[in-house]
Amino acid sequence: MYSQNPVFIPGPTNIPEAIRKACDIPTLDHRSPAFARMFKPAVAGVRRVLKMEEGEVIVLPSTGTGGWEAAITNTLSLGDTVLAARFGMFSHRWIDLCQRHGLNVQIIETPWGQGAPIDRIEAALKADTGGTIKAVLATHNETATGVRSDIAALRRAIDAAGHGAMLMVDGVSSIGSMPFEMTAWGVDIAVAGSQKGFMLPAGLAILGVSPKALAAMESATLPRTFFDFRDMLKSYAAGGYPYTPAVGLIAGLARSVEMLEEEGLDAVYARHHRLAEGVRRAVAAWGMRPCAASPELYSDTVTAVLVPEGCNGTDLVKLAADKYGMAFGVGLGEVAGKVFRIGHLGMLNDVMVLAGLATAEMCMADLGWPVRLGSGVAAAQEYYRGSAGTLALAAE
Ligand SMILES: *Cc1c(COP(=O)(O)O)cnc(C)c1O
Repeated sequence: MYSQNPVFIPGPTNIPEAIRKACDIPTLDHRSPAFARMFKPAVAGVRRVLKMEEGEVIVLPSTGTGGWEAAITNTLSLGDTVLAARFGMFSHRWIDLCQRHGLNVQIIETPWGQGAPIDRIEAALKADTGGTIKAVLATHNETATGVRSDIAALRRAIDAAGHGAMLMVDGVSSIGSMPFEMTAWGVDIAVAGSQKGFMLPAGLAILGVSPKALAAMESATLPRTFFDFRDMLKSYAAGGYPYTPAVGLIAGLARSVEMLEEEGLDAVYARHHRLAEGVRRAVAAWGMRPCAASPELYSDTVTAVLVPEGCNGTDLVKLAADKYGMAFGVGLGEVAGKVFRIGHLGMLNDVMVLAGLATAEMCMADLGWPVRLGSGVAAAQEYYRGSAGTLALAAE
């Protein structure tokens, strides 16, 4: 029997049938008006999801990592200084990418499990009286540790320091799942990918670019060709693309935005919060706790669960895949083995999450971890049963 369990990795996420169908289209001439008719609503939809009142949306055939690269190569020059906190694998990898491009990264080392240290960032900006820092990089949702940083507070800190640095935000695992306000938060570049909150296959980097970042693009000298925003924008204006677009994914993106808006962005965020809270109740019932150091840091898209002393999170992930055909996320970098991750973003509802929690418990029992079968599931059941709102996914 063929069966497909939902995945519980924090991306790629489960793909709704409607989006799979929307991606499956015959070959279309991307220089024809038919492409423009498909592309324009997708871009307009992304603009609404990002809450952008100004600036441009750029959609690249790439992934989130390519989105980081595009963000920096389009706005910065060799030797420029950027300020970034490192508190997980994804914030680390963005720093590494900047260094490989010859940028000078001023790194604020932060314990894993913490978020962007707003006070220390503000202090660093205040100390930079010569204005050498060109950009502040922030990972909105650190997917390795399940930590959400407060981007609005970061904006206030930059303003309080009276500093003119651009604010670049990695929203790959938050955008489309947790509140994001590009313009209100004064974000200059927001980076998303197709395979997380947008519930698509991997293959698109989706960026919001502010007028300030567009102005920086004119003088930035880091080399770029495939990712050059100037070429993209020139072609967009003519309803096209500078090279062959990922047409099927773009068709899917239009459908994805439609689905998010049919549910309502606020309802999507509320659903993610509820699902996450149920997972957290289960984690507590197991006698464990999230890697995120305090509740205001808890991510609504992924929970990194600290496993008991003497247990290895990677064993659970491996067993879940081998024995039960279910995917959880392993711990990365500093927290390898110390956590396993439950992704709870994209197309998920109460019932699906309960299946994931039940499977995690079976693995724990199989591995001899000190957890009683049903304990976490029961805690989540009580929460889901008792909290308002129907989570049935719209029938396709
Ligand atoms: C998944 C992820 C990325 C990397 O995206 P790819 O699409 O795998 O290149 C970057 N940042 C965060 C926070 C992520 O969760």
